[in-house]
Amino acid sequence: MSSVKSLTFLELKMYDRSHQGVFMQRRVIIAGNWKMYKTNDEAVQFVKELEPLVQDSIPAVYLAVPFTAIQAVSEAAKGSQLVVGGQNMNNALEGAFTGEISARMLLQAGARFVILGHSERRIYFNESNDFINKKLNRALKDGLQPILCVGESLEEREQGKTEEVLKKQLTECMASVPANAEFVLAYEPVWAIGTNQVASPEEAQKVHAFCRQVLRELWGDMADQIRIIYGGSVKPDNAAELLEQPDVDGLLVGGASLKIESFSQIVNYQKVSKT
Ligand code: PEP
Repeated sequence: MSSVKSLTFLELKMYDRSHQGVFMQRRVIIAGNWKMYKTNDEAVQFVKELEPLVQDSIPAVYLAVPFTAIQAVSEAAKGSQLVVGGQNMNNALEGAFTGEISARMLLQAGARFVILGHSERRIYFNESNDFINKKLNRALKDGLQPILCVGESLEEREQGKTEEVLKKQLTECMASVPANAEFVLAYEPVWAIGTNQVASPEEAQKVHAFCRQVLRELWGDMADQIRIIYGGSVKPDNAAELLEQPDVDGLLVGGASLKIESFSQIVNYQKVSKT
């Protein structure tokens, strides 16, 4: 398993935080979001085939799998560098919430991270920033790394409201989150999810830099350590150019994470881009 320390200068997003030669590192994350796809058998088979193709990968490889598959996939991925996670959770420790799942249940099944605030949850299940904020604080308290998703709709984008929307989502979702929290931010423009309309690298960079600025207002210099990953119609042929942007620290991949070939190509984007 590769550790961050063993990676070379070029393999990490490096930045000089204070312009005094103090370099910090943000290891790239490629995260797959399987949504409501794959039974346990299909999930385990996928992981067995994926593992040898990504075992020496430079980025960290995350897989957000259906709840039912977390345990089986975690067992199948044991000893590999794959990090398994969930796609949602409830904010309560436990309780009478039929159909819900807690952070502790996810952890015990083998999850190490959880996606929160995905636009499909916000749109189809009416999740508010306030509810997402409660889940975020719960995940951190119980030891799960959250991937917080934010993003504007097409209408908001066309009205020039992208920054306003993102600032509101970020500040409300992150209320009372401690500055040293182990979390990842995902910028996922709603108009780009599942549409084949990927943000251009320049657009993504501009928005990621804006998000980092908002994080800086909340957390000061800690903002430089937060990984901000992009999601929305990522494919093997657009991954490398997105990741070349200084503030794009990884990718959240939906559709293309369901196929071994496309997902492994995205994980190995540096090899793909050189050929
Ligand atoms: C997602 O659902 O998080 C996503 C980014 O989907 P897709 O890659 O299919 O656009």
